[in-house]
Amino acid sequence: MLKIKIFLWQMFQNRLPTADNVAKRNGPSDWFCVVCGTIEAANHAFFRCHLARFSCSTVRAALQQNWNPSSGADLLQIIHTQKGASARIVW
Ligand SMILES: [Zn+2]
Repeated sequence: MLKIKIFLWQMFQNRLPTADNVAKRNGPSDWFCVVCGTIEAANHAFFRCHLARFSCSTVRAALQQNWNPSSGADLLQIIHTQKGASARIVW
């Protein structure tokens, strides 16, 4: 659970090694998403890219939910409004 919390914290803080963050640190990146060619930040990689939106819609359909987060902030708000196991996530 700790690894998931750390990963989510990094995502919310835009600290993951996405293309834009790697390029900012002069790493081997050209700033752009390999799927769609848009500048790749955390929100793009997890919520706005076509592949991310498809993955999210698949999970949403499997869980029979109607949420559709477009950013880390949206996801955090959804987590806080859920009841049950996901409501136990404390930041
Ligand atoms: Zn993309």
